[in-house]
Amino acid sequence: MTPAPRLDQRQNGMFMRFGLPFGLAQAGPIAYMDCEKEHDFAFLPGPFALTEERIRLPMTDTAPTASPMPAPGPTEPVVVPRPDPATSDARIDLLGLSKDELKAALADIGVAERERKMRAQQVWHWVHHRGVTDFAAMTNVAKEMRGLLARHFRISRPEVREALVSSDGTRKWLLRFSDGAEAECVFIPEDDRGTLCVSSQVGCTLNCRFCHTGTMRLVRNLTSAEILGQVMLARDALDEWTAPTADRRLTNIVMMGMGEPLYNFENVKKALETVMDENGIQLSRRRITLSTAGVVPMMARCGEEIGVNLAVSLHAVRDEIRDEIVPLNRKWKIAELLEACASYPGANNARRITFEYVMLKGVNDSDADARELVRLLRHHRIPAKVNLIPFNPWPGSAYECSDWTRIERFSEIVFSSGISAPVRTPRGRDIMAACGQLKSASERRRRTARG
Ligand code: SAH
Repeated sequence: MTPAPRLDQRQNGMFMRFGLPFGLAQAGPIAYMDCEKEHDFAFLPGPFALTEERIRLPMTDTAPTASPMPAPGPTEPVVVPRPDPATSDARIDLLGLSKDELKAALADIGVAERERKMRAQQVWHWVHHRGVTDFAAMTNVAKEMRGLLARHFRISRPEVREALVSSDGTRKWLLRFSDGAEAECVFIPEDDRGTLCVSSQVGCTLNCRFCHTGTMRLVRNLTSAEILGQVMLARDALDEWTAPTADRRLTNIVMMGMGEPLYNFENVKKALETVMDENGIQLSRRRITLSTAGVVPMMARCGEEIGVNLAVSLHAVRDEIRDEIVPLNRKWKIAELLEACASYPGANNARRITFEYVMLKGVNDSDADARELVRLLRHHRIPAKVNLIPFNPWPGSAYECSDWTRIERFSEIVFSSGISAPVRTPRGRDIMAACGQLKSASERRRRTARG
């Protein structure tokens, strides 16, 4: 039984606790939230609007059911298989299905062959173009059919455990999936675009030394529904379904959240195909960028089969240094990685490959490093742009960010060779939403509680 709402409010607004029914997109269990006020966080509009500025679920009875696993070795690509979802809802989630799978699922529940194609089109349109989560809203589908669909299917959204808005407008959602695993998703509004940073795994096996996500203990692949669910949820929150393809706020997607997308290729591919679908959200592949730390054998397939832009987390120009800070380099060296970039399908001067380069003081930020970067990109004839990322610190990180003058100097050297090298402005640092700061907030809390 859910406890009765409580009101336990301390003076001076430091901490307010009261019970609120927490009914998110789907009819889930009703939980009660702790709400803590911090004036630099703002409200979230849309269906996830909750009446407080910072929302948190208590850790007590809602802790993840999957027991934490020890992190696999530094270059181990095998992820822990997903445990059976601890959900009581046995209905099939339509979000995880391709068009063909949807047709097959309709056949399985007895939809006659002559109307299957039409029904599949209708349902797909409602789910992926109109964003509905309730079969009752599918007004052009006969009533009995809607009932049949609702008995066998559901249209999921990830559960939001925490929703934060930074003073710079960046939003972060901590999501909890049906087995209790958690991942984060970030929306970054800018003047001319709005970028959603999507996670592909819970945690990450790569253990890049400067990345907070790499310290998470629980690691598994996200399903295609869970990846797609992040986009759906952001569009819900941004109120994007009224005019599904006009005046978009969410204009770009980057697979730069938690995890290594090329270690979860099939699910990432399926989710992105759905996002790009001409009867769905219709986001152009040119507005989607997949970032990899360098899973060389999967890069060509990424270009051929998904066709999105590529970003590569290079971060160092000498193997000794890259072996250390991006341990995946021990498997695929810089030269091999750059060869795979040079032959990336679809890359040309109009569609360059982005090289991410985190600026770590005294590690990879010298003039010689900048010149070597230019030499390598030229030598491999890669249509490239460089994105310099000031290192975002996190509790316990062993590195410091390069000084601003050093970053500028590095940028100038690369620029003067004719390669664009802007410095990425850190966004959402105050809510730990910036690059490399993502790590399940509940895991952070557990660790803090343990001291
Ligand atoms: N695994 C993929 C996707 C993650 S993208 C990849 O490595 O490309 C996240 C980006 O942020 C990567 O370029 C990553 O190297 C970078 N990053 C990680 N930790 C960081 C930190 N603390 N400060 C700045 N950038 C960081």
